[in-house]
Amino acid sequence: MSVAAGPGGPDESRKLSAADRAYLKSIPERVENELATIAAAIDDDKVFIVNGVDHVVHHWQCRFVAHQLDRGSVWNNHVPVALATGYLAAGVPDEWLSPPMPTMMSLDEVRALPRRHACGHCAPKLDAPQRRAAERPSLYS
Ligand SMILES: [Zn+2]
Repeated sequence: MSVAAGPGGPDESRKLSAADRAYLKSIPERVENELATIAAAIDDDKVFIVNGVDHVVHHWQCRFVAHQLDRGSVWNNHVPVALATGYLAAGVPDEWLSPPMPTMMSLDEVRALPRRHACGHCAPKLDAPQRRAAERPSLYS
């Protein structure tokens, strides 16, 4: 695929720089790496996705976070924005222009958040069962 200079709008007349082309070429591998990272997180019991300053917690299979895990679509939406900035051609490290990955946490990590809200749709059970005092970890052991 080539993007030729032409009589179209500003997008069509803009030539891709070498940095832009290298960036585009790298995207399939980035998507694969991100999907592998997500799969490894799930394997590592990081099955919750935490969003926003209010720490809304979803199970990774919740439909309200599916768009964050669909890395192909995330990148498809991101690439035109990244190219339009011109930052790549200006030499900004292209990692800076990657779309954010979902924040994935284990149940223990979620419980350690100062505040959190369970998604009303997938409603993950986040509260620790009540433990007797003798079962609580000691600070001194
Ligand atoms: Zn949810």
